[in-house]
Amino acid sequence: MAQLARQYAKSFQKAGLEKIVLSVKSSNVVASLAAYRHLAAQDSWPLHLGITEAGGELAGAVKTAAGLSPLLLEGIGDTLRVSLTSDPVREIHVADLLLSATGVRRRGVEIISCPTCGRTTSDLFRILKQVEKALEHEKRPLTVAVMGCIVNGPGEARHADAGLAGAPNGSFMLFAKGRLLRRVPQKHAVEALLKEIQKI
Ligand code: SF4
Repeated sequence: MAQLARQYAKSFQKAGLEKIVLSVKSSNVVASLAAYRHLAAQDSWPLHLGITEAGGELAGAVKTAAGLSPLLLEGIGDTLRVSLTSDPVREIHVADLLLSATGVRRRGVEIISCPTCGRTTSDLFRILKQVEKALEHEKRPLTVAVMGCIVNGPGEARHADAGLAGAPNGSFMLFAKGRLLRRVPQKHAVEALLKEIQKI
């Protein structure tokens, strides 16, 4: 695959084309990784990354992350496309998350949330979904924590730009800019968090 791409690029060059970007997308993660690494080691043409026909939203995002994260972390790649059988807006969202997680570019909110356990005092899954939806279009590179308990939650919430940590009786401790602000009941927790985020 990489060999073929190089041959094409060289023939384009011979024909006088200069602005060449190579892409060796495949739906096979291992083959794609090998091809992109080969091209990056051999030549200096810009590379367009992608795992093509990756699948539905969840499976496709995982497959794309498996294939592209190693490359991005190695500094390989100049542009990328996430290909999901889903709304193109979701493809852009996954691309933003991927670039943010690999430290290539921060745009939008990074959410720190726990998996929940016996210490969880609230309906954290629902709270997290509400927070994610509300912040989906936020472009500022913020970190927001949504944590389930008062034992391990405050640490993460303090280190985030804003955060919630579950407290007794389903309430939450509200944090912003490293400070504990107050305790809020569960039904007002998301609204209170969003208000603090607006102030940042
Ligand atoms: S933060 Fe608390 S509720 Fe969440 S997983 Fe950790 S211990 Fe459990």
